[in-house]
Amino acid sequence: MSKISLKNLRHSYLENPVNDIDWALKEMSVDWSDGGAYALLGPSGCGKTTLLNIISGLLTPTQGEVWFGDEEVSHLPADHRNIAQVFQFPVVYDTMTVYDNLAFPLRNRGLAEPDIDKKVREIADMLDLGETLMTRAAGLTADGKQKISLGRGLVRSDVNVIMFDEPLTVIDPHLKWVLRSKLKELHQQIGTTMIYVTHDQTEALTFADQVVVMQEGEVVQIGTPVELFERPQHTFVGHFIGSPGMNVLGCTLDQGKPVYDGTAIEMTNDVRNDDTTARLEIGIRPEFINFADQGVPVRVEKVSDAGRFSIVEARHGDDVIKLLVADGGHVPSDSAFLKFDPDHTQVYANDWMVSGGSHG
Ligand code: ADP
Ligand code: MG
Repeated sequence: MSKISLKNLRHSYLENPVNDIDWALKEMSVDWSDGGAYALLGPSGCGKTTLLNIISGLLTPTQGEVWFGDEEVSHLPADHRNIAQVFQFPVVYDTMTVYDNLAFPLRNRGLAEPDIDKKVREIADMLDLGETLMTRAAGLTADGKQKISLGRGLVRSDVNVIMFDEPLTVIDPHLKWVLRSKLKELHQQIGTTMIYVTHDQTEALTFADQVVVMQEGEVVQIGTPVELFERPQHTFVGHFIGSPGMNVLGCTLDQGKPVYDGTAIEMTNDVRNDDTTARLEIGIRPEFINFADQGVPVRVEKVSDAGRFSIVEARHGDDVIKLLVADGGHVPSDSAFLKFDPDHTQVYANDWMVSGGSHG
């Protein structure tokens, strides 16, 4: 097992990439530390599978290097990289039994049968496949087959990394929840580096210690769930994570302080923006806005009950600003003022954060 480093990686499926959009992956350098539980999170088409396939060697990147520890593996074929990869749709040998499917990767490595038997039963138990071990895989449901795929990914303990590519897509919602918790548990037990690809923020945030957020072929932030929530480095992270997502409001700067349509907005962190032509925006999450005696003037338009709190939609000009009010909290019926928490107010220039203490 070792750290995985991607150095100055870029990939295009085209022969002669010219424009930005020709690159499925824009230039990136990413380190995955040994033993980490990572989620790779982003919408469909942002390049997640492309990135996995480059790590595993199924795809050769147009540019850049892949390192495992201090060995460059860029030119090693997939079967020499010692990786387990679980795909979105089940890959099983239909004519083999569940047992033989699970044993396959271990027999390939030449393990002794008693050791194989122990490992196969352990994984089968974990995935509730114990009862079906002697059944042919062909007879199983899509759920069952995907559990075999997961099992085959998990059965070897000597791999550099286990990568899961949206592995729960075909699994029913209840089982999804169970399996997700099991994967997390398993990571804690075996400590192998895991990269879990998903477009679902809940899946990512429950599984991972570190979340790598991608958008349009670019890594926009790597951080803990708390960091992504409290200090989104890019407006996309603000939108994509959180429910509802972060409010993003056009602003100007006056001596380094943001001004939103005539109202000066207080911030704890300094704004460090050198690009005077950049599009400037304030980012503020609904969790960090309160009603106050003064601040941004708004008109309350809509209040929706969301369990322990309400989501309030307040209008200022063309903007609708969302805020959360705890149950029992007072919601003005019409005109009101909003106050943004200075600790959690960020400024963005062309979508990238240009404020925020040591994070900027
Ligand atoms: P994700 O897994 O995040 O949904 P992908 O890595 O599959 O994204 O795709 C990233 C981009 O690369 C998309 O625009 C997709 O259409 C394109 N792409 C993926 N695979 C191929 C391929 N084999 N040939 C050409 N373009 C591809
Ligand atoms: Mg994919």
